[in-house]
Amino acid sequence: MNLLEFEAKNLLAKANIVVPNGKVIQKSDEFTSPAVLKSQVPTGGRGKLGGIRIVRTKEEYEAAVNDLLLLSIKGFTPEVLLAEELLDIKSEYYLSVSIDREKSNIIVVASKNGGVEVEDSMSDSFLKLPIERQPNFDGIGQAVADWLELPAQAFVLTDVIERLVRCFTRNDATLIEINPLVLTADCKIIVADCKIILDDSAKFRHPEWSELSQQPADVNFVTLDENGTVATIANGAGLAMATIDAVHEAELIPANFLDIGGGANEASVLAAFERITQVTAVKAIVINIFAGITRCDEVAKAIISATKQITDLPPLFIRLSGTNSDIANQLLDDANIERATSLEACIMTAKQVAA
Ligand code: GDP
Ligand code: MN
Repeated sequence: MNLLEFEAKNLLAKANIVVPNGKVIQKSDEFTSPAVLKSQVPTGGRGKLGGIRIVRTKEEYEAAVNDLLLLSIKGFTPEVLLAEELLDIKSEYYLSVSIDREKSNIIVVASKNGGVEVEDSMSDSFLKLPIERQPNFDGIGQAVADWLELPAQAFVLTDVIERLVRCFTRNDATLIEINPLVLTADCKIIVADCKIILDDSAKFRHPEWSELSQQPADVNFVTLDENGTVATIANGAGLAMATIDAVHEAELIPANFLDIGGGANEASVLAAFERITQVTAVKAIVINIFAGITRCDEVAKAIISATKQITDLPPLFIRLSGTNSDIANQLLDDANIERATSLEACIMTAKQVAA
């Protein structure tokens, strides 16, 4: 589960990590002082795409709120914005906690090149420190302070890193990424942006997650070919692969692998559609559901919502059977959405638009 920025910052605030003062808004609110307005979409790179706006007057504030609520970023339109106090930023850094899967431990990663260009940074600009079972946080904080050339901040960085690591383990996170971590003109260290991914497999022991976030569980999505014209949605990794093979055998180019998983609900399937619309070459979407644990009616509801909500949705070619398929068929009939009786029939009709 990929938290929105404000949800991630709420989690950090609970762990006593300093985040900017701010509030979540759904429309223009009272303007009190210069602020930064941030589109709350589940993707990064908002700064470059116009999703972060600094406003200094009431007029700027109102215009920016209206713009941002309509601005689609990588296929996502925000439901809310985060309005935060404007920080007087002196420098921006990168700091994250994640899992080193090869070494089976937690690592802290730090870099002086924080901010919007971090993906372009050289890998040797990152300091990587493993977190042992009994971590020496003083040593880690000192090493990070040296690396970032912030000797006066060693104590504060030690504290931030210790709290981040505790927040990471307690919440079963797989990533906490602070980018940027900023040093303000008055020499405070503040988390200006934060991305948190929580491990969906640990959901059963976190009843509090339903309060924390409305974000759907992650779907297993892999882009296969940016020029692929046929997107696929299936339940179960095996069926997803078989569907891709069938597309390939029909001499079409599969765009992606997408397994909606066993417990998929309407929200997670809708998220799957949104991921697909980010692959721009797609001309047809083949949906192949053979439902056991998955419920066809949940998938059908998502299909209907997608056709209503997503503009420029490529045509759908649907084959669906199994649990609750009778309810699903009724829902789809009522919405005038056609299905095929076999995967072969689906792909043959898809070929007419995607060849
Ligand atoms: P992202 O592009 O989605 O990662 O969004 P960020 O929240 O990281 O914001 C992008 C950039 O906007 C940051 O690297 C900062 O340079 C700038 N920014 C964000 N918040 C503030 C702020 O309060 N004050 C100033 N001056 N700049 C900000
Ligand atoms: Mn950022």
